[in-house]
This record gives sequence, structure tokens and C-alpha cells, in this order.
Amino acid sequence: MSQFQSVKGTRDIFPEEAVRWQYVEEVVHRLAALHGFREIRIPLFEYTELFQRGIGSTTDIVGKEMFSFQPDPQGRSVTLRPEMTAGVMRAALQKNLFSLGTVHKLYYIGELFRKERPQAGRQRQFSQFGAELLGVSSPAAVAEVITMMMQIFSSLGLKGLRLRINTLGDSEERARFREALQGWFAPFHDILDEASKERLEKNPLRILDSKNPAIQELVARAPRLYDYLKESSLRDFEKVLFYLDERNIAYDIDHRLVRGLDYYCHTAFEVTSPELGAQDAIGGGGRYDALARELGSATDVPASGFAVGMERLLITMEKQGLLAELPSDVPLVYVVVQQQDLLDNGLQLAWQLRQAGITTEIDLAGKSMKAQMREANRVHASYALFLGATEYATGCYSLKNLATSEQITLTLDAMLQFLQEPKAQKPFYS
Ligand code: AMP
Repeated sequence: MSQFQSVKGTRDIFPEEAVRWQYVEEVVHRLAALHGFREIRIPLFEYTELFQRGIGSTTDIVGKEMFSFQPDPQGRSVTLRPEMTAGVMRAALQKNLFSLGTVHKLYYIGELFRKERPQAGRQRQFSQFGAELLGVSSPAAVAEVITMMMQIFSSLGLKGLRLRINTLGDSEERARFREALQGWFAPFHDILDEASKERLEKNPLRILDSKNPAIQELVARAPRLYDYLKESSLRDFEKVLFYLDERNIAYDIDHRLVRGLDYYCHTAFEVTSPELGAQDAIGGGGRYDALARELGSATDVPASGFAVGMERLLITMEKQGLLAELPSDVPLVYVVVQQQDLLDNGLQLAWQLRQAGITTEIDLAGKSMKAQMREANRVHASYALFLGATEYATGCYSLKNLATSEQITLTLDAMLQFLQEPKAQKPFYS
């Protein structure tokens, strides 16, 4: 064992697990394309100010969770990306994507970094996939991102997820509500916990998010943002719900849902999983019309998006038994060389099989025939292909089905043809 261990809050993904990731990623790629989203890949780090401006300095992420460093002694501070939205918007603005008032539909899969206390469901390096619909702000747009996210969940077979949704109004409505909230909580100031006192002062909406039962009790009686919304904002929200109803997407309206980030307006949503403990949020998102201006854009770039945590998604899938029979990268054929002087011929044969697109494995360590057979079973090969003096001399090979022990003898051409037929292939998703 090495004297080194992985850093707390990070983890390794070995091949057996990586196939699960590939499976989810394939579904994400496929459904994103189906909805007209195209992939964007952005740097792992950005200038720190991007996140300070974009996410908001009163949020937990910016306040205490960023990995920031200064690569050059006199240079600007940079930060490992703690979320993707600010970076995606930065990239789109930098490339002037909106000069023609066009709409851009982008999605991503990638790693994020947050200096949180590592615990179940909370890592310091984790992954998300998500989408951003940039350049249009409408109930139809936000309904489209929610629909795509829910569609990915159902394609993966997930059950029992809960979509909570709320409206945060526009900035004017929120400002009036903030004042009302501060006024309402003022008489209770002494019984608030420290975190709530701080939230009330800096970012009052977040007090609604408190997990403390005593605060939750107060929140239940506090004014609701909903009552501060103008007719147009109410209609906007109702339209989003209308689209979800039309598509049979179930949701719960939750007036306390505010989400941690500053940039949301109007619709905000979160999905929780019944399979996770305290950290039960699997994904979320909303509409963020003000972000582009916050990042210095001269034009408005209204937008909506979502992000889903891969690790928590996979934990949920595992608990729901959705990962038991996934594709695996098992070799289809194991070339068993019966005598070592035929190894080079075996290698040539393996090369020919691979050239024909047949997944093939062969021992490179000079193992005995018995050990090669053990190896073929260990890697779950479907067939053993025997190469001995007779096979070499006649050009006919014995192929043994390792599941049924049936054996057939074929010429190389016939064997290639047989192995390329779908019935010879191990079912990928059985
Ligand atoms: P957020 O950007 O905080 O709304 O996070 C979106 C999703 O990313 C969450 O619902 C989680 O599934 C996932 N997530 C956020 N933080 C972490 C973390 N520290 N470790 C693992 N997953 C996380």
C-alpha cells in the first residue's frame, strides 16, 4: 500500500463503477441532443471575481467554500469552479454569442470543487451535469429545462423523486418582501440562532431555508413572497405550472424554497431523492435573468438552467436497484494459447479479432493454459478461443461458449462472421 491516500472529500472511480458513470453520461448526451442542447466545456478555474459577482458574496459558496489561489505573485486570484452557471455565462458573453439576439442551449458534465465539510453526499470534488438555456426568458423556457431534467431522471428509471417549485418574483418584488421579512422577524431577534441573525441581515430570503425546527416554525407564520407578487409574475408562474401539468410532471409548490444562490428570479426548483439522508437534494435550478448584467453585459441575457449532482444521482440509482445490470466492458473473446511458442500467433489472432471490431483479451504474461482459463472466467469472457498446434496447422479454431460449455470449430473467416452477429454478442443492457 502506498503511504498516500486520496484527499478527504475526493474519491477514485474504478472501472466497475466508471461504467455506471458512462451509462448516465450517455443518457445525458442523448436526451440533451433530443431537446436541442449542445455541449459546452469550460475551464476548471476562473477569476475569483466571476464567482463573487455571479453567485453573490453573501452565499455560503462564496463566503466559505471556494478553493481560491493566486498563481502569480502579483496576479489575480483564481478559484476552482464551485458551480458551472457563472462560467458558462462568462464564456457565452466573452464569445459575443448574443450579438444577434440568438438563443443558445448549452449543457455540460463536469467536476466542481467546494470546501465543504466532507460527509455522506457532500464531497470537496464532485460532478454535475446540467443545462443552461440562454437568451430567452419565458415560462416556456424554464419549463423546457425542468422537463429535460425530469426526462433524464425517468429515462434512468428513477422513481419517487420530488420536484419542489417556487417563484421568487422579480428584484423589485423581492426587495419589498425582504423588507417585510426583516420587519416581521425583528421582534423575534433574540430567539434567532446565529446563522439566522446573519441571514436576516445579509440575505433575508435565506432564512426561509433554515433547517432549524424553531426557525421553521416561525417561517411558517412569516409573510410569503407569493403575496408580494404582481399579477404578471403570478401569471408567469402559473404558466410554468401549466406546462408541467400538460406533460404530467408532478410537483409540489413550496413557498419556502429559495435556493442558495443570489442570481435566481421567478421560477426556482429543486429535486429531492427519498433515498438520500440529510443531503437529499439531487438537483435544482431556476431562472436567472440578472446574471449577465451582473457580469458586466451591456445587454440583458435572460436565462434558465438546472444542475444535477452525479454522485447523489448514482447513490439513488444504486438504492433503487437500477445499476445491477448495466453494460460492462467485458471482453467477448479470450484467446487461450495452448503452448507458449504460439504466443506470437495468438497475439496476431487477437489483433485480427480486434480489427474486426470484436472485443478480445489475451494473456501477455506467459501464464499456463489453466491460468489463462481462470483469467478468462475472472474477466467474464463470453468465449474462449483455443489456439494450439492443430488449430495453427489447420486454420480452424475451437470456440467455447463459457456459459454453456458448448464448443464449435470454425475457420477464421466463419468465426469472425459468427462473432460479429448480434446473437454472439453478450447483451449489453440485459
Ligand atoms: P447546487 O449547485 O448547490 O444547487 O447543487 C446542485 C446539486 O449538486 C445538488 O443537488 C447535489 O446533488 C450536488 N452537490 C452540491 N454540492 C455537492 C457536494 N459538496 N458533494 C456532492 N454533491 C453536491
